[in-house]
Amino acid sequence: MQQYIIGNWKMNGTKAEAQKLATGFLNRIQEATRPLPHIVLCPSYPYLTSVIEILKHSPIDVGAQDCHPEKSGAFTGDVSAAQLLDVGCKYVIIGHSERRRYHHEGSAIIRRKIESAIKIGLRPILCIGENAEEHKTGRTLHIVSQQLASDLPSDQKPHEFLVAYEPLWAIGSGQTPSLKEVEEIMGLMKYELSTRLLGGALIPTLYGGSVTAENAADILNLPHVDGLLVGGASLKLDEFWEVINASER
Ligand code: PEP
Repeated sequence: MQQYIIGNWKMNGTKAEAQKLATGFLNRIQEATRPLPHIVLCPSYPYLTSVIEILKHSPIDVGAQDCHPEKSGAFTGDVSAAQLLDVGCKYVIIGHSERRRYHHEGSAIIRRKIESAIKIGLRPILCIGENAEEHKTGRTLHIVSQQLASDLPSDQKPHEFLVAYEPLWAIGSGQTPSLKEVEEIMGLMKYELSTRLLGGALIPTLYGGSVTAENAADILNLPHVDGLLVGGASLKLDEFWEVINASER
């Protein structure tokens, strides 16, 4: 499977910075001499159209960081999956831990968002992962398995979405699980997905949480890791390009 390297820019930067970064990646892509992974950049809403315009003839896709489950209506401040598709997004991150934490999103709304994105033709990237306490008390496998069961709609097709394992305590902290832990959890995710859905083993499973140019290759080389979801490092052109080049498949 071709690997995925996804950059989550979160609520960072200015329009000029987003354009500069997108143009920088475009130039690197044009000069690339080796096969590249799927690359997806996820800027914040106001910069989506500028970034999409810059990357429109390139193999880099653009995604959003969230969507509302309804197609349209009186939902001030929200953006629907249909609107994201309309401006040219191909992907949308759903259930990121920062949405769960600061917007109190739970399984019911996450499932609806996934359903609405798939229905309209966007590929959701579902984020799951345990918190520090759950990790410390050895409950990671249980939590991950529980989240897969509660957050995913049951009747989806494998090519329609991706799942990212993002331990909450690893996001933005500079800490990562051991390679052995990542391997074990990603293996469990593949197993759970393949028992829950026909062809579920084909669902790309990504790791996210303090990925850097230094640790990317080791993580990408693990079995069952089909790519990376990268926050902080995706805002740095040289470092993210190194992460992209760490992919082998
Ligand atoms: C994220 O927020 O999805 C993330 C992985 O962040 P970071 O790489 O900065 O830990």
